[in-house]
Amino acid sequence: MSNHEIMELGKKYVMNTYGRLPFALVRGQGARVWDADGNQYLDFVGGLAVNSLGHCHPRVAEAVARQAKELIHCSNLYWIEPQVRLAQLLVENSDMDKVFFCNSGAEANEGAIKLARKYAKLHLGENRFEIITMRLSFHGRTLATLTATGQEKFQKGFTPLPEGFRYVPFNDLEALAEAIGPNTCAVMLEPVQGEGGVNVAGVEYLQGVNDLCRRHGLLLIFDEVQCGLGRTGKLFAYQHYGVVPDIITLAKALGGGVPIGAMMATGAVAAAFQPGDHASTFGGNPLATAAGVAALGAMLDEGLVDNAREVGQYLRERITELASRHDFVKEVRGLGLLVGMELFREGGPVVTACQQRGLLINCTNGNVLRFLPPLNISREDVDEAVAILAEALQDLA
Ligand SMILES: *Cc1c(COP(=O)(O)O)cnc(C)c1O
Repeated sequence: MSNHEIMELGKKYVMNTYGRLPFALVRGQGARVWDADGNQYLDFVGGLAVNSLGHCHPRVAEAVARQAKELIHCSNLYWIEPQVRLAQLLVENSDMDKVFFCNSGAEANEGAIKLARKYAKLHLGENRFEIITMRLSFHGRTLATLTATGQEKFQKGFTPLPEGFRYVPFNDLEALAEAIGPNTCAVMLEPVQGEGGVNVAGVEYLQGVNDLCRRHGLLLIFDEVQCGLGRTGKLFAYQHYGVVPDIITLAKALGGGVPIGAMMATGAVAAAFQPGDHASTFGGNPLATAAGVAALGAMLDEGLVDNAREVGQYLRERITELASRHDFVKEVRGLGLLVGMELFREGGPVVTACQQRGLLINCTNGNVLRFLPPLNISREDVDEAVAILAEALQDLA
């Protein structure tokens, strides 16, 4: 089928929940993707931080093919070898002790919210249920995670929302200190806000948040669904800050493209969940966790975290240089290969101009161009992307 045929069929049969570009991707290899009409693109969207190993990494493709012939699914009534091995890999490479597997970022955050409430009921008191989250955060689209998300545009039309969330501005320690009340049980935030426009938490701020949580006996939850797993140039974003949260959520890059989410916690917190408290039919299934073992293994063995840090620095330097040529660029920011360029105008036309020249980027929060290449991206590919972006910006100037 052609781009046009796929699009027309989709308009007829698929619910209209995405503002889609007018083409369909049908093949990917490394940092490149092809659409149904055979056009090639350099992919700096990467499935929105999912394709951190590039497309169709051989280790993931082989693990999925092998597992698909052994056992695709079995219930969590039984032990599952790749699930156990993926949990071991995550625990041995982090400060967390136990892992719960699910299928997406929203589900991982739902699990974190439930675990925080359960822990608080057991250890802090019956009325400790409120979770403080950040303005411009993004935690998912289920009703609870949509409510945790501190942006009204995502909540509009879906009231009544669940109780128990309260919002404060990001990077504002005083506002957080003031918001803590007798019902508060946890603080939840993204160390680097992704959807909210690539906003990086300050080191002193996060250390201050950690101190406040310890002083008030609150749980600290880091949503690393987007910024975790090497994206920022450390395996986990919390490792930039010298603080260890109580709960960390993961998803996006965890399965090398295969859907999987995880919620990790330190021992005493994890112990608040007992059999029957939480579950997922597909969570931690053999296929997804075999993909996860392969993806995380490749990420560690191939030095992708270091590459993300080094090439991320290079990408930021190159586009900062570009930015200085245009007065409509406000700021370039980010950490590792989670990079944003904020404009004083809408980013949509730049996204389209790049796409027409063979580069996929995305725009978040209206005016922030976001760059999420694979973590194994080369400097040559960065140069190619920057050259295309330069032309696109020049065109609009
Ligand atoms: C993408 C994202 C989510 C939601 O993940 P889904 O898999 O789409 O449910 C949650 N938190 C953050 C920080 C994200 O970037």
